[in-house]
Amino acid sequence: MKKVPLAVLLLFIFLALGSATGITTSAGKFADRLAGKLRLYVHVAQLYTKDPDEQIAMPVKDVSKSQIADTWQAPRGNDRQHQGQDIFAPQGTPVLSATEGYIANIGENSLGGQTVSVVGAGGRLYYYAHLDSYAPGIAEGDWVTPQTELGHVGTTGNAAGTPPHLHFGVYAPGGAMNPLPLLTDRPKEP
Ligand SMILES: [Zn+2]
Repeated sequence: MKKVPLAVLLLFIFLALGSATGITTSAGKFADRLAGKLRLYVHVAQLYTKDPDEQIAMPVKDVSKSQIADTWQAPRGNDRQHQGQDIFAPQGTPVLSATEGYIANIGENSLGGQTVSVVGAGGRLYYYAHLDSYAPGIAEGDWVTPQTELGHVGTTGNAAGTPPHLHFGVYAPGGAMNPLPLLTDRPKEP
């Protein structure tokens, strides 16, 4: 039962996002959004009870696991450690969801630039950052699979001026975890 508090916290985050963005929409749209959000809460609560994925798919097209230089917890500035892995690829390379789950957030922040966050089994959050652009048509609350395109590799946020890469983070309820041991190569396309 110790899993419940984070699920409740997630619900409050979603509710807060909903109330912040719902004010400017019409009442009808707001009701639709609210119904959509409520469905999402139920789905996320269901996902939360599942065991977390032991293996996840490489989130950048045509990159293999052996190409990733392990920078987990490498120093970043004076007081930060790298809470994820950087997966380098040409600008515009498709970023695919590593797991099944629901899109919890699509948004911009100063470090990550354009980001997508997906809630997966076990309440894990998968974080895709520095996106050059979002995949057309994706929305918060969408169900995704490892075949779903989320966006494209870029240099937004604090990756400006660096070679284009995806910053990929995995956050378990207990905190950040190293994505590298979980990653598996996708089957080669013919
Ligand atoms: Zn990074």
